[in-house]
Amino acid sequence: MTLTVLDPATEEPIAELEQAGVEETDEAVARATEVYPAWRSVAPADRARLLRRVATLVEEHGEELAKIESRNVGKPISGARGEIGMVAQVFHFYAGAVDKHYGQTIPAAGGEAMTFREPLGVVGLTVPWNFPLNIASWKLGPALACGNTVVLKPAELTPLSALRLGELVLEAGIPEGVVNVLVGKGSVVGQRLIEHPDVAKIGFTGSTEVGRLVMQGAAATIKRVTLELGGKSANVIFEDADLERAAAAPYAVFDNAGQDCCARSRILVQKSVYDRFLGAFITATEGVEVGDPADDSTEMGPLVSAAHRETVSSFVDGEAVFSGKAPSGKGFWFPCTIVEATNGDRVAREEVFGPVAAIIPFEGEEDAIRIANDTPYGLSGSIWTRNGARALRVARALEAGVLSVNSNSSVRVQTPFGGFKQSGFGRELGMQGLDGYSEVKSVFISTEG
Ligand code: NDP
Repeated sequence: MTLTVLDPATEEPIAELEQAGVEETDEAVARATEVYPAWRSVAPADRARLLRRVATLVEEHGEELAKIESRNVGKPISGARGEIGMVAQVFHFYAGAVDKHYGQTIPAAGGEAMTFREPLGVVGLTVPWNFPLNIASWKLGPALACGNTVVLKPAELTPLSALRLGELVLEAGIPEGVVNVLVGKGSVVGQRLIEHPDVAKIGFTGSTEVGRLVMQGAAATIKRVTLELGGKSANVIFEDADLERAAAAPYAVFDNAGQDCCARSRILVQKSVYDRFLGAFITATEGVEVGDPADDSTEMGPLVSAAHRETVSSFVDGEAVFSGKAPSGKGFWFPCTIVEATNGDRVAREEVFGPVAAIIPFEGEEDAIRIANDTPYGLSGSIWTRNGARALRVARALEAGVLSVNSNSSVRVQTPFGGFKQSGFGRELGMQGLDGYSEVKSVFISTEG
């Protein structure tokens, strides 16, 4: 069956692709299984060199990849350039990590005990459409660094950058079969990877709903899983914060048109500064440039699909305190929208995954922590205050995996990324990312006799 890939800004088809089914998935797993012994035996310095070469090729093809990503996802070209830059950084980081993923020696009676980090085998990587190549690289980098071979399934909506990366991986000299990119449906290819007895692990990013299916399916073969799922993160603004700075950062929720698992889509504001903050936040949001993703000055593009726009719209049923401008006509456009809410409202409970910010008032620190934690999710969040002790107290009290103080940035190549609660488990990025793609083996050598 063929798949038509659309440009979300124009609704025009940009590619027609053949979709893989169960048979092609099995063939890809067989190829990855066959080359696994050779790939895991590549000397660490050589594996590092190959990953470094992938990073360099991504840099050399940066503009081309950014254009592919921008056109396929509808994301502004400036943002896409930054994301491709990060993809290169990820490969550089894990190239450097190959020979620094040490084992331990452990005191033991009668001999010496030591640990080794062994690869898992063939890993299945299923990624979403919001940051297609970026999220793929967070999994590919550590998986390859540890010596695993890979079947990568991009989202149906956004397969183009992964296909191009598959070519660059070969050009870098990584042998055929080590990285297999399969375009196909989640319910077919994704499902088969979960079931396949020769797949050792699923690295998954996507909805909590599908994450649950991954976990259930993985149980049959005791597959390892890393789940990076949804979020409903809080941006907590205290009265002693630099309000102007906090309000001037509307991208914490509107970046990537809100299609971001780290979107701070609940903005918790202390009552004493609520009106001042809201006014400044509306002014900043009015300034967000929405339009043609190919234009350098554009800050927000359309949503990814018509179906997704429908879902996002369903969250704005009452009066919005602010609704911005968006192009009319073709394209899956949705304006920046600000609503006042309580934490019990649907817009504050469920992941909207669109440019909709829910502003929620709170009384004091205890109340802020209670509301921020009153969600099944626990991915990211921000704390805005000039009081250092409070910043640390609240950071320790929040049930979330990735927090920032006086900043809205969540993702760094060097630091672990992942969720608490129903936002998933396992960590990506940083040296911790390697833990999810290796097993610890303990070996005891007797020194007696
Ligand atoms: P999904 O969770 O459905 O998709 C994520 C990936 O999983 C895609 O590659 C998809 O394939 C695949 N998939 C879908 N069904 C299965 C299955 N049964 N078995 C294995 N793999 C499967 O997310 P959606 O794209 O539908 O988005 C829905 C909502 O999920 C969003 O509105 C948002 O709330 C949340 N989401 C969260 C993300 C995050 O970063 N945490 C990312 C994306 C979505 P395919 O698309 O090809 O069918």
